[in-house]
Amino acid sequence: MTERLVVIGGDAAGMSTATNARRGRSVDDLEVVVFERGDWISFSACGEPYYVAGIVDPLERLLVRSVEDFARGGITVRKQAEVLAIDAGSRTVTVRDRAQGRDEVVAYDSLMYATGASARRLPIEGSNLRGVHEMHTLDDARAVRAALDEAGADRVKRAVVVGGGYVGIEMAEAFHHRGIATTLISADPHLLGETLDAEFAEAFVEEVRALGITVVTEERVACIQGDEDGRVTAVGCGDQVYPADVVILATGTVPNVELARTAGLRIGESGGVWVDDHQRTSIPGIWAAGDCVETHHRLTDGPVNIHLGTYANRQGRIAGINIGGGDQAFPGVLATAISKVMSLEVARTGLTEAEATRAGFKAVATTFSSTTSAGYWPESTRMHVRAVADRPSRRILGAQIFGGPGAAKRIDALAMAIWNEMTVDDMVNADLSYAPPFSGVWDPVLVAARKLQELLG
Ligand SMILES: Cc1cc2nc3c(=O)[nH]c(=O)nc-3n(C[C@H](O)[C@H](O)[C@H](O)COP(=O)(O)OP(=O)(O)OC[C@H]3O[C@@H](n4cnc5c(N)ncnc54)[C@H](O)[C@@H]3O)c2cc1C
Repeated sequence: MTERLVVIGGDAAGMSTATNARRGRSVDDLEVVVFERGDWISFSACGEPYYVAGIVDPLERLLVRSVEDFARGGITVRKQAEVLAIDAGSRTVTVRDRAQGRDEVVAYDSLMYATGASARRLPIEGSNLRGVHEMHTLDDARAVRAALDEAGADRVKRAVVVGGGYVGIEMAEAFHHRGIATTLISADPHLLGETLDAEFAEAFVEEVRALGITVVTEERVACIQGDEDGRVTAVGCGDQVYPADVVILATGTVPNVELARTAGLRIGESGGVWVDDHQRTSIPGIWAAGDCVETHHRLTDGPVNIHLGTYANRQGRIAGINIGGGDQAFPGVLATAISKVMSLEVARTGLTEAEATRAGFKAVATTFSSTTSAGYWPESTRMHVRAVADRPSRRILGAQIFGGPGAAKRIDALAMAIWNEMTVDDMVNADLSYAPPFSGVWDPVLVAARKLQELLG
């Protein structure tokens, strides 16, 4: 008899699951049905800031595959179909067809829970004024872009971005790129939260300011002000008022776990749905992947809920392979992330010194500056590196980088070293490439290993 896989959520984790399960089992053996509550499936939220900036156009370029593409591959996708409830006892879901306003009960043999995350909503007075946006969905991106493209007296001249995380800095870039005076407000002492060590983050903030973006730190937004037409005019923080024609609220994201909680799925310490290393939840037949799940950090072994497309795709793939008859485990994460603001790139992997110390390591750290190419190369720019190691084991634990074009992607070599539990001594003579347009003869990755070796003696 044909079994049915029902997938809740039609983006990275859900569609990766559907595709990989389909590869493993024939259409006669497994029917695959995806329910997506919105209008978009298989899209790149990561590209949204670049659409707002006008670097990527039109919005549809952010779509990876269509309903028709999936249908050709033997996967049924229904948009505007919201799963309202999961009954694990009878192995059914209740689905609302939002267009028709009709509910139906659909049976499953396997269920993938891939509901993602939503923008965190802070109770800030004035959040519903015209011109105030979140930046999570493609609809958010379209609304902001439309506001920027408006001609005439309503032209956006000043933007305020609330929240100094990755989405916040990328939206600051988008506005700055369009010639809009931009203020970035962070409640933290720095940008990018605790993903960089404090002193390194401070230096990064200075570089963002040098680009012409106003960065305000340690300020909490108290209210958003508007005119009599209900249009935003300013953001208020204590005594300070920052004028704004458009405001982005980018104060983080929270996993969508309510449906799972109601269905009786175990929720982990980090707030994400608990899964084992095969992406199985606490209830047989139900799997979960992506922003909504808890995973484990490879260095601390602790539970984390990190919202990255990289993990959503990989976990979805693993779940799909397993549903398709395979046997694969998700190996955990190092929290490797990369971003940029204009020409300034930033990346991190593993643990900061502060995180490593908190986790019980005897951490040492080094910070130094280098160049992205040979010093004499015309396009060479400055880059700054911080690297962390564990004193007793001499293992590399983490790295942070910021600098000009070509700086940040070097994080991948460091991430590979950490992934493979290399010591600084293993790494110092690693056979990395060199030619003047790409690096100095000592690539900054090797310099990091050398500096840590000097520290450790
Ligand atoms: C502006 C922005 C920039 C980003 N940049 C990067 C980046 O550069 N690199 C990176 O790695 N990550 C980035 N991310 C994060 C990345 O987009 C997410 O980690 C990824 O999309 C998570 O995929 P997911 O499938 O778990 O969840 P989602 O993409 O959130 O998809 C979940 C889907 O489930 C649907 N859904 C939820 N509940 C239901 C229900 N009850 N019934 C039916 N459907 C439901 C939702 O409508 C949604 O479409 C960025 C995110 C944003 C917002």
